Amino acid sequence: MTFSITSDTIQSLNTEAKPRVSDEEMRQAVRTLLIGLGEDPDREGLLDTPKRVVKALQFLTSGYRESLDELLNGAVFTENASEMVLVRDIDLFSSCEHHILPIIGRAHVAYIPNGKVIGLSKIARICDMYARRLQVQERLTAQIADALQGLLKPQGVAVVVEATHMCMVMRGVQKPGSWTTTSSMKGVFSEDPKTRQEFMSLIQHRPAFH
Ligand code: ZN
Repeated sequence: MTFSITSDTIQSLNTEAKPRVSDEEMRQAVRTLLIGLGEDPDREGLLDTPKRVVKALQFLTSGYRESLDELLNGAVFTENASEMVLVRDIDLFSSCEHHILPIIGRAHVAYIPNGKVIGLSKIARICDMYARRLQVQERLTAQIADALQGLLKPQGVAVVVEATHMCMVMRGVQKPGSWTTTSSMKGVFSEDPKTRQEFMSLIQHRPAFH
């Protein structure tokens, strides 16, 4: 039998707070994987591996069990500022949804307030929340921008993510040194080339991992 699941359905399934299998069932699945890979899951070095893998994966996807409300904890303030706020070089560690392999990179996030500002550390926390899910880089970028747009209704939001994908570097096309850049521009960043240009020139730099 074939089930067709839309991407919307997958998103809502993924964001359910309660996992539908137990930790023990997950550990058994990792054990099965190890056997499938030709390993002996009972040898000393691997005895605790299923437990560790499950814990690590739960941490790397902990963003499903967080919400913007909880994360912000009221840290949106009324402020008469109208200059660009930019947080650049926010480290990002995510996992690709196609291979569950790391995506490593940086985000640069800017907005121009329209009466409301957000605690700067919260911008990094928002990036982490979406990064700690199974992702594609395009969606991660859009989700960060949408979150800020929804929370602050600013004059504009700009998000650029630069990342390298281990599924491309370590396997598949094996292209170490390949970087993918994605962006999401809203409001004045999308409408006004000068504002966008100012943002782009502020985030110019050499790649950090070279
Ligand atoms: Zn991948």
